[in-house]
Amino acid sequence: MAHDTTFNPFAMARTQFDKIADLIGLDPGARGLLRSPLREYHFSIPVRMDDGSTRVFQGYRVQHNDARGPCKGGIRFHPQETADTVRALSMWMTWKCAVADIPLGGGKGGVICDPHELSAREQEAICRGWVRQLARNIGPVADVPAPDVMTSPQHMLWMMDEYEHITGGHFPGVITGKPVGMGGSLGRTEATGYGVVYCLREALDKQGVDPSDTTASFQGFGNVSQYAIELYKEMGGTVVCVSSWDQTDQTTYAFVKTDGVDLEQLRGITDRFGGIDKAKAVDLGYEVVPGDQWLDQDVDILLPCALENQITGDNVGRIKDRVKFIAEGANGPTTPEADAELEKRGVFVIPDFLANAGGVTCSYFEQVQCNTNFFWERELVLERLDQKMTSAFHSISDLATSKKLYMRDAAYVVAINRVAAACRDRGWV
Ligand code: GLU
Repeated sequence: MAHDTTFNPFAMARTQFDKIADLIGLDPGARGLLRSPLREYHFSIPVRMDDGSTRVFQGYRVQHNDARGPCKGGIRFHPQETADTVRALSMWMTWKCAVADIPLGGGKGGVICDPHELSAREQEAICRGWVRQLARNIGPVADVPAPDVMTSPQHMLWMMDEYEHITGGHFPGVITGKPVGMGGSLGRTEATGYGVVYCLREALDKQGVDPSDTTASFQGFGNVSQYAIELYKEMGGTVVCVSSWDQTDQTTYAFVKTDGVDLEQLRGITDRFGGIDKAKAVDLGYEVVPGDQWLDQDVDILLPCALENQITGDNVGRIKDRVKFIAEGANGPTTPEADAELEKRGVFVIPDFLANAGGVTCSYFEQVQCNTNFFWERELVLERLDQKMTSAFHSISDLATSKKLYMRDAAYVVAINRVAAACRDRGWV
């Protein structure tokens, strides 16, 4: 889908928040505090490019709320990044950590840039420049960044290294999503995608559906999507479509195979940003269609695992009646207009800040491991992740059932109540 410049993610995050603040009768003080970030930083990052010129990149860090613990959230490198995108994502991080019930608040960062067009050295300079601007405002007990769209473990390591240069010590708890062996946690790479499928497994079970009788269509083929596909297929499901962003054509393509995609085969023809090679896919027997056809598939489950603003009032009508579940691997993929329609149709939506909370939950485990300097086996990480996600899912779905709430609204009720209680208990409001 082309980028919609009129869409404002922060306006959307506030609309979602206001609806539940009204529903639970949130007091004006807590409402005023939680509607806006506590702090934000906007700054310039000058970078000497490989050709000798200097380019100045715009960087951001937004700290939405830290009543429950240090701010936590990723750093996104994206050409269409805006201050309002980072604000929205930081607010969603606050709700995500609260729903996962981990002792962290919400933050988010970003840089307006396109890593497709930058050398490794230029990206390293952006990472180090980002930390130089923020070293006094982040830290293991203040604000802990992590990867997000188009940032990787290598970026996190450069950032940690710069932070340690500035502060003069070893502080692996300053950032998560680092490479394994350099303070990273086993299981962190697959954690977000696996977490989506842990929730989906519970949702299917609750509705009495056998995963091996289901088919699914995925938007995106990045880190979240690839690992969600892996576990969903292990559970017996069939993936009939994945979509991916094509950098050359600046649009998305859907890769359709009605008898089920082969994950390893697709991984073998994909670049590090999740871009699938179209010609090779055609040779392998995939039908390759330009546009957002992942949405039109006649499947049981849709999994948007790319960016915000993908299921909207304009396109929600294209979703087939057969679709009964939507699991949001991305942050903010569904607008409030689309939500109203999905709720009417009785679609079981596993909302973003529940469905994709596996990433930050494993980041929390990574922090615990770094702070105690003792690293866990992969099986233990994934077992604890599954426990956390399963219990978060049930606390939301039980509330949704007992109060007859849409799943997103139930997740908001739990999250806002927890964060507002922390603000009240601290005497802030
Ligand atoms: N960027 C990821 C998210 O949106 C992970 C954040 C983290 O691990 O702190 O949840």
